[in-house]
Amino acid sequence: IDLSVREDMEKLNNTFPNFKDNYRLIKRIGEGTFSTVYKAEDIRYHHYHNHWDLDAKECQWTPPPLGVASNSRSNSQSRHTRRRPKFVAIKKIYVTSSPSRIFNELELLHDLRDSHSVCPLVTAFRQSDQVVAILPYFRHQDFRKYYPNMTVMDMRIYFRSLFTALAAVHAQGIIHRDIKPTNFLYDPEKKRGVLVDFGLAEREGIDNKPCLCHEDPQVRRQRLKQSVAFTSAHAGPQPGYPKNDTRPSRRANRAGTRGFRAPEVLFKCTEQTTKIDVWSAGVILLTILCRRFPFFNSADDVEAMIEIATIFGSRRMKQAGQLHGCMFDTNIPTIGAAGFSFEKIMLWSTCRSDPSNKDAAKGQGQLTDQEKGALEFLRLCMELDPSKRVSAEDALRHPFLSLDGD
Ligand code: ADP
Ligand code: MG
Repeated sequence: IDLSVREDMEKLNNTFPNFKDNYRLIKRIGEGTFSTVYKAEDIRYHHYHNHWDLDAKECQWTPPPLGVASNSRSNSQSRHTRRRPKFVAIKKIYVTSSPSRIFNELELLHDLRDSHSVCPLVTAFRQSDQVVAILPYFRHQDFRKYYPNMTVMDMRIYFRSLFTALAAVHAQGIIHRDIKPTNFLYDPEKKRGVLVDFGLAEREGIDNKPCLCHEDPQVRRQRLKQSVAFTSAHAGPQPGYPKNDTRPSRRANRAGTRGFRAPEVLFKCTEQTTKIDVWSAGVILLTILCRRFPFFNSADDVEAMIEIATIFGSRRMKQAGQLHGCMFDTNIPTIGAAGFSFEKIMLWSTCRSDPSNKDAAKGQGQLTDQEKGALEFLRLCMELDPSKRVSAEDALRHPFLSLDGD
């Protein structure tokens, strides 16, 4: 292990009294913007071994199989089947995180404790400004390792697991806000995944200012016309590229990861819903289908809009902006009015569209029926208008995710 990692582990060992008596740090498994995560052994496991009635071989935490009622609090089985894990993930939250943020994450995890597809919180402690959260260790593989070889069937199983988790979270009125591969720990062998990292999560509908997207279309058109008339009649604030835009800035929650932000987040919608997570899940599917990670690679929100507009075309992007009272305009020559179909994008990015491709004769340049089915589902997830985008619950009933027939 790296010397600096060893030093950090030693520091953590000494931050909490008795830490060493309870946990044996093994290695660092994650380092993010907000925390460092270590794998550790729960040493008390040995003392309580018999008491907790754990299979000695079962050292990894396994959530119960899919299909078990996922979010009913009265389900007494849930705590029963969730036995004490031998290995834990210790999330050391950076001291620069605000107390309210840390509290928010722990509180939401606590609220989601009965959702089997969300990694539960075992416990948490604080010593002055340092907070650590203890989670059962969930064995998973690096997304980069498995996504290039996933078959459409593998994708259906992966997304069934992800959307089961999303449906449980959304049923509690919680928006995760940071859906991306590193926050969905997936084990391709067990074909199970759990959602982690509720650091940016929030409850839907709290302290929302009204957004035009929640008005009916007629009111929306009226208001837009008024604001355009106002801007052209007054020499004052002028629209433009954000750096030169002199109008008072709009504020909205933009938390998330670049490349995974839904259009309404980019357009600073003030009434964001759980649908923003569905968009991000769609971006993961697009990534796998196109075999490109990261698929979107923007440095900022304007670039992110350009990337989305390149696919969807300026006409639909304009409409998407207007929903939230934004004017989208561009003179970038690569952004056409109509954009490109997902089929085209997928064929391009998997190098199957070039007629000079020597494999073209072997029926390439075509998508399989399975791939077409996946794209049909993708279109529902990456719908620009959040009110028309599929919900996680409805997605589970879509043929792409309902695996019964196969
Ligand atoms: P951050 O807020 O820093 O992104 P996360 O909660 O996303 O923190 O954890 C960072 C990384 O640590 C994850 O991407 C994953 O690799 C690893 N990790 C987190 N929780 C667990 C867990 N319960 N089991 C195994 N690995 C985990
Ligand atoms: Mg994370």
